[in-house]
Amino acid sequence: MAWGGGWGGGGGAGFGGGHVASSSANLPFGGIPTELQAGASKILAQEPPHEPSHLSFSQLPSERERRRLTLPSMLWDYKRWVVLGSLLVIVISLLLQSGPRLTEYAINRGMVPGHHSLKVIATTAVVFLVVALLGTFAQRSQAIVTGKLASRVMHDLRIRVFTHYQRLSLDFFTDEKAGVLMSRMTSDIENLQQLIQDGVSQFALQGLTMIVITAVLFTTNVALATWTIVLVVPILFAFTIWFHHASERGYLLSRDRIANVLADLSESLYGIRVVTANNRQRRNIVNHRHVVGAYRDANLYTGRVNAIYGPVTIMIGILGQALLLGIGGRMVLHHQLSIGALIAFFLYLNRFFQPIQLLVQQYNALQQGRSSIIRLRELLETPPSVDEIVGATTLPAIAGRITFENVSFGYDPTRLVLRDVNLEIAPGESVAFVGPTGAGKSTMAKLANRFYDPTSGRVLLDGIDIKTVTLHSLRSQLGVVPQEPFLFAGTMKQNLRFGRPDATDDELEEAIDVVGLRELVERLPNGIDTVVHERGQTLSAGERQLLALARAFLARPRVLILDEATSSLDLQSETVIERALDRLLEGRSAILIAHRLTTAQRADRIVVIDQGGIVEVGTPDELLRHEGAYATMYAAWLASGGRDATRESA
Ligand code: ATP
Repeated sequence: MAWGGGWGGGGGAGFGGGHVASSSANLPFGGIPTELQAGASKILAQEPPHEPSHLSFSQLPSERERRRLTLPSMLWDYKRWVVLGSLLVIVISLLLQSGPRLTEYAINRGMVPGHHSLKVIATTAVVFLVVALLGTFAQRSQAIVTGKLASRVMHDLRIRVFTHYQRLSLDFFTDEKAGVLMSRMTSDIENLQQLIQDGVSQFALQGLTMIVITAVLFTTNVALATWTIVLVVPILFAFTIWFHHASERGYLLSRDRIANVLADLSESLYGIRVVTANNRQRRNIVNHRHVVGAYRDANLYTGRVNAIYGPVTIMIGILGQALLLGIGGRMVLHHQLSIGALIAFFLYLNRFFQPIQLLVQQYNALQQGRSSIIRLRELLETPPSVDEIVGATTLPAIAGRITFENVSFGYDPTRLVLRDVNLEIAPGESVAFVGPTGAGKSTMAKLANRFYDPTSGRVLLDGIDIKTVTLHSLRSQLGVVPQEPFLFAGTMKQNLRFGRPDATDDELEEAIDVVGLRELVERLPNGIDTVVHERGQTLSAGERQLLALARAFLARPRVLILDEATSSLDLQSETVIERALDRLLEGRSAILIAHRLTTAQRADRIVVIDQGGIVEVGTPDELLRHEGAYATMYAAWLASGGRDATRESA
């Protein structure tokens, strides 16, 4: 195996340790270019200190987390900011609308024949300027307030969604595409941020502006205001309803299609090894082109709808102005309206249409924000399929008796994978599950640590139904070494301590020796402080398995579940592992899912699972003497040279 140049200098990097982790780890993609280093250090020096979080996590959501996700409920915790923002919006809207009134005043009192006054004009101009300055200041303050509000609300929401992801059960993550789950955290939350930062305040501001202008129009001249409302508003209203339907359709389309784009992208990136190995690049590009193309079409449609709406509202505005010019001009001639008032009316009318245009622009943000809220709410209201019962007790320290009592289970309850399984594993006993592919071995293991609940029957630990205890207390006594161990971005040390962060250095060293990781650790540039990459792709499959075994050894669980945990090891590692397993299994109950019959032979008892049921149970010797399914499997295994025979025999 070639160790890439990406190692080196990796000491002290933490999980999510930010810039320290990436720069000291010398990762190929994580470093800051030297020419930017000075600037980056300056920015980091100005960073406010981040207090470490002291969060507690419980499987059952708190009262606050159970609150239905709506815009008001999200804003509720920041009432003071909302009130301040709203007051500022009112102030801005009033300040902005005083312009035409001042113009009217300057014309009527300073410019028309008989009322010439430079003083009035100059004073009004100064007031105009002051009002404009105040308006700018208020707008700046309002942007700061809503910006802060949006950042805080989004921060809370991100934590809430992430916490919910941590609570959900395995089936949720198997059923949902990873890209879709990511898009909840990325595009949906960004849409909401946009909505809270600009959308809501703009909506309030523009809505208020329209109300203020309507009131001003009526106080200026009732007849002219009535004409405006009667002639212009119905046309505008009908047209807006059309737009509402057309753009809603567009947003639903683009919403679904961007989710497809993200899902396709994440699948291609996640499966890049398989893609490359199978020469699927071209097919993938074609596929991605289709989904991106569909997304583009949806955007084009929305663009077309918007392109109609903007100019048409302008046209309606001009139509209104033309009508007013006629009607208002006639009123001026008949001395029913002052010339200043007519000009003010025109200015206001322009401003009456402006908010409509802006509202239409914000309408997109509102639509997106609304559908994002709906999707996030659905997500937050999805209960974990495996949940703690109310009043779940803490599982006391167990001896390790595992009982499957009339257990039936199907991932889809109408298609059972296991049927009426009964099995008892004594404390300290190791039991190997063998059987053909797809027989249900891993499923049995998943039921034992409550990744799923049986469709019927019970799983008991020391006689206690595991459904009645807290998930935390249950899993703290169970150790699982999965088929494909997952390593997190961080150092080897942190990965080893994953299940027990308080393990001492001596215990760490012991675990490394026991599973035979010493040689690997010594080869690495920084020993156990070397950074391993996300998903451990820089370690070989066997090395990852050794690391996962060491992790389980350190966690010291009462019950161990090894899901083909030694399948990727070579024969030499296997002998090391044999010894390691002896130490690992000492005094512990264990379920070993075994394809290699060497592992199975070491177990105290073997359980042969086939077609959703147990077909044979006994010690290795008993089963070999019995000449049943296991003996046949064993003979085939010997004949094939003793490697991975159960797959073939299946
Ligand atoms: P292997 O030796 O290949 O690991 P196994 O005996 O461990 O096989 P299981 O993983 O327990 O088999 O699967 C049992 C059956 O359940 C299989 O038919 C499989 O297709 C099905 N299955 C497994 N996981 C799921 C899932 N998440 N959703 C639906 N069906 C599943």
